[in-house]
Amino acid sequence: MIKKIRALVLFSGGLDSTLAVKVLEKQNIEVVALSFVSYFFDDTKAKISAEKNNLNLRSVNFADIHCDVVKNPKRGYGKAMNPCIDCHLLMIREAGKIMRAEGFDFVATGEILGQRPMSQNLQSLKIIEKEAGLEGRLLRPLSAKLLDETEVEKQGLVDREQLLDISGRSRQRQLELVKELSVDYYPSPGGGCMLTEIEFGKKLKKLLQAIEKPTASDFALLQVGRIFWTGSTRIVVGRNSEENEKLKKMREKQDTLVELQDFMGPVTLVRGIVIGEIMEEAKKITASYSKHTKQMDYRKLSFLVC
Ligand code: SF4
Repeated sequence: MIKKIRALVLFSGGLDSTLAVKVLEKQNIEVVALSFVSYFFDDTKAKISAEKNNLNLRSVNFADIHCDVVKNPKRGYGKAMNPCIDCHLLMIREAGKIMRAEGFDFVATGEILGQRPMSQNLQSLKIIEKEAGLEGRLLRPLSAKLLDETEVEKQGLVDREQLLDISGRSRQRQLELVKELSVDYYPSPGGGCMLTEIEFGKKLKKLLQAIEKPTASDFALLQVGRIFWTGSTRIVVGRNSEENEKLKKMREKQDTLVELQDFMGPVTLVRGIVIGEIMEEAKKITASYSKHTKQMDYRKLSFLVC
C-alpha cells in the first residue's frame, strides 16, 4: 500500500490557513490542522472553521512556553504587546516537534509573501524556517512558487505545479480560491488575540513593570475586572456577576477577597502585599463600585475579608 503523505498545517481558522489546508488536501495529502491555545488566545475560531470546512483539527495548549515568549520576546513587540514574530516562530517550532515525534512529512502555513512587510518578506520567511529547525520541511503552499523549492517539493511529496504564487496584501486571489477550492466558511480577518489589543497591552505592560516574575495566573488575572495598582499590589474589582465568580475561582493562597457584608456589590481580589492602607483602599474601591454604597462612607460599612 502506498504510504499517504501527512502534513501539519498551522491553523488559525482564517481564510489563508484554510486555503493552505485545502490546497494540500487537493493533492490527496492527509492534513492535520494545528491550532494553539495560550493565556491570550484560544481555539474558538479554529474550531468553528474546522467544523464547517470538515477539517481534521488538533489543538495544542502551549500557554506556559508562550508566556515566556510574551515576557521576553527576542524580536520585540508589535503595535500593542504582541510578540508576533517570536510567537509565530514558537508555533512553527512546536509543530516541528510534533512532526518529528509523530512521523508527519512536513509542516505548512498559510503565510503569504509580502502580506506583512516585517514578518512575511523573503528574508523573514527564510529566517523562520531556519530558526524553527525546519529547513526544507516548511512549506508555504499559497506562495510556494515564488519561494525556493523545498525538500518536500524536490522529493515529490508535494506537486509544486499545483501550489500557488500569491503575494502582497490584496485578498482578491484568495477570494477567488474560496469558490475554486470549495471553502464553505471563513471568518472575517483579525481578532482573537488579546495581545494585539492596545488596552490589554497597557495592562500587560504595567504587570511586567510591577512584577519581576509574573506567573501564568497573573496573566490570566489581567483579563478580568478593573485593575488598580498600589506599588506591586493589585486590587482587581469584578465588573459583573460572571467576573465576580471568576475572581473567586482564580483566587490563590496568598490572595485576599473583599466583599461588602450587608450590600450587593463586587468581589474584589487583592494580590500582593496587603498592609493596612492597601486594605483600606481595597474596601474603598469595593464600596465605590456598588450602586448601593457608592455614595456612602466606606469606613462605616462592614466587609467580608478572607
Ligand atoms: S496575533 Fe497573537 S497569536 Fe498571532 S502571532 Fe501575534 S501574538 Fe501570536
